[in-house]
This record gives sequence, C-alpha cells and structure tokens, in this order.
Amino acid sequence: MNYQAYFTDALARLHAERRYRVFADLERIAGRFPHAVWHSPQGPRDVIIWCSNDYLGMGQHPKVIGAMVETATRMGTGAGGTRNIAGNNHPLVQLERELADLHRKEAALVFTSGYISNETGISTLARLMPNCLILSDAWNHNSMIEGVRQAHCEKRIFRHNDMAHLQELLAGADPAQPKLVVFESLYSMDGDVAPVHRICDLAQRYGAMTYIDEVHAVGMYGARGGGIAEREGAMGRIDVIEGTLAKAFGCVGGYIAAGAAIIDTLRSYAPGFIFTTALPPPVAAAATAAIRHLKASNWERERHQDRAARTKSVLAAARLPVMMSLTHIVPVFVGDPELCKEASDLLLADHGIYIQPINYPTVPKGTERLRITPSPYHDDALIDALADALVDVWQRLKLPLKAGALAAE
Ligand SMILES: *Cc1c(COP(=O)(O)O)cnc(C)c1O
Repeated sequence: MNYQAYFTDALARLHAERRYRVFADLERIAGRFPHAVWHSPQGPRDVIIWCSNDYLGMGQHPKVIGAMVETATRMGTGAGGTRNIAGNNHPLVQLERELADLHRKEAALVFTSGYISNETGISTLARLMPNCLILSDAWNHNSMIEGVRQAHCEKRIFRHNDMAHLQELLAGADPAQPKLVVFESLYSMDGDVAPVHRICDLAQRYGAMTYIDEVHAVGMYGARGGGIAEREGAMGRIDVIEGTLAKAFGCVGGYIAAGAAIIDTLRSYAPGFIFTTALPPPVAAAATAAIRHLKASNWERERHQDRAARTKSVLAAARLPVMMSLTHIVPVFVGDPELCKEASDLLLADHGIYIQPINYPTVPKGTERLRITPSPYHDDALIDALADALVDVWQRLKLPLKAGALAAE
C-alpha cells in the first residue's frame, strides 16, 4: 500500500479545483490595527488587513490586553484541567455570569470555541429529545451542520431565510414531535440578516424550540452588544443563543446562553464541553473585559457601521461590484475561483492590502468573492486607497466594472 498517495491525490484534487488554501503569515501589531507585518517569501512587509473578524479591534484594546496580562501574571497561563477536574477557574465563572447577563438568560456555558459550542450544543440538545426533528437554514455554518449531523435525528433544510418554506416544513411535521429550529442571525458571507421575529412566530405556532448563532453579531448589534436578537427585542423569545468570544470580543472561545436547565444539561451531557481542558484564566478575563467594555460603549459599534457604510459607498462609486448588505460585511463579487485568488494575490503583492479570497466550499461555486470587513480603525485614507487598489486589480484582470451610475445603490 502506498499510503502517501492517498494524501498527495487528495491535495492534487484541491489544486485542480483551484481551492488549495494558502495562509498568509501575519504579525499583528497591537495599537496599530489594521496595520500588520506580512512575512512574505521575500521578507517582512507592512500590510493593511481588510478581512479580519476582529471586527471592532477589541483584540488590541488596552483594557483587554491589560486584563489578559494581569491575570496571566496572577494566575498563570493554562487552566490546568477540564472544568470537572481542577480547571474550573474563577475568571471563567465570572465570564459565564457576564454572558448570561449580556443575553438576559438564566445561565451561560463557555466552550473552547464557537465551533465546538455549535457542534456539541446542537447535537447534545437534539439527542436528548426523543425523535427530534431539526429544521436547519440552508446557509448555516459548518459547525451547525456538524452539530445537526452528529445528532443522528431527522432533519429538514429550509431554503435560506425562506419563511414560507420553514412554515411548510413545520406544518408538515407531526405536531407531537419535538422540533429544533437552528439558524444564524447574521450570515457572514453575504451580510444578510435572519427575520428573527418571524422565525420565533413560526416556532411558537408549531411548538418548536429555537437555536440562534449570533457569532457575527455579538458585540456589534444591540444597545449592549447582545446581537441582532437584542436589537430586534427578540432575545427573550429565543431558547438558545450561541456566540463566540473570538470575533468582536477579540479573544477565543465560544458559548451558549439559555435557561438554567438547558445550560445544566449541556454542562452534564455535552462531550465537547466535558472532555476538554477549560479556557485559560487570562483568556476568560480578557473576554470579560471586552464584553463589559462593549456593554457600556457605543463608540466602536457606531464607528464600525459608519466605516462599513463609507466603504460600501466609496467602492460602489468606483463602480466595483459591491454586493449590497445592510450590515458590516462588504462582499465584492468576482464569480470565479482563479480570478478571485489572483485578485487577492495582486492586492497583497502590489498594494500591501490583505483580503483573503472566499471560494467554494465557503460560498457556492460561481459566487466567489472578496469579503471585506472594515473596522472602526479603517480611516478615510485607507478606504480610498482600497478603492484605488481594487480598481487597478479589476482592470488588470479584466474583471467587469459596473456601467453607468456612480452612486451607491
Ligand atoms: C466563526 C464561526 C463560528 C465558529 O466560531 P469560532 O469561535 O471561530 O470557533 C460559528 N458560527 C459561525 C457562523 C461562524 O462564522
């Protein structure tokens, strides 16, 4: 047996489909976001990051860095064990209280990542409901898809944000069957938002439980950063709220906030929670500092929206094919995996602008794009330079610019 051949073949298939991934070797500079150093094959170079999920720059906020450093100095680095065996550290307990309060739920539970919280959270809850039917949005993130898969129960996929379809599936199911509707609040590749209240209306009408992924919304939407559900006044209508500490909160880790019985059940049954080492105390303290700051401060949220709006309008005025969204995500359509990769390479090599290409399977084939995420720290000059660089790359690759109207649509 030539075992090596299996893997070289697997890699060759990715190359052939133009979806072999190359990671940029970056060094972030605290206090200077979005400036960073790119360790290029030719040596270190200054670049501007335009695709970070540290949406609000909280990963470099003095309060967050301070909490991490101070806690590491006082308590050391690792947690030293699982939650059950010596790892249940005080900063983590405090973080869970902070999260429960953020979402106005009875309790919260922290996992090592948002991915794990979805995977183990969805599968554990669904498995404990006899004959559960899961209704899952077609655009749900891979972590939710894996959670649904591992639940080993019946599932129906509803067309993305299509309420008529969801209703049809709910109405067609056995009224006595337990049901779980899983969806995201803000879909991060297009930047569109779920009709949260309408999903809750349907769930109520057909007696279903609701599970929302607010990963791309926590910290950024709602008066205290509780997400889209907070903004829409729907937090109390949703049974399970899942989020991350790794995006707008600038750290790492995931969580679920819900009623006390659900949280105690996950704590007691979810393998992805039980059999892994707890989050380190410095990380928990840093996340708490970020959440507390964003509960009280609106500056980051307002400036973030302002920067996203300005980026969209400057790019649209330059006739670039901006896919219009009502949120902070600024996707620019390419529609071809090779050109998307080439555009990204040219931006980095010739303009010092880092935007990772988004290709299949992250988005459907034929909808390849550059996904731009402006932060509060992308100033007017950086946005103008981005537009100029994109136009240059679009012309060199003979990608179509939009005809006619120069104004934002
Ligand atoms: C990033 C992401 C996750 C995973 O969160 P991590 O904390 O990065 O593991 C979950 N859901 C969605 C929609 C995401 O985009």
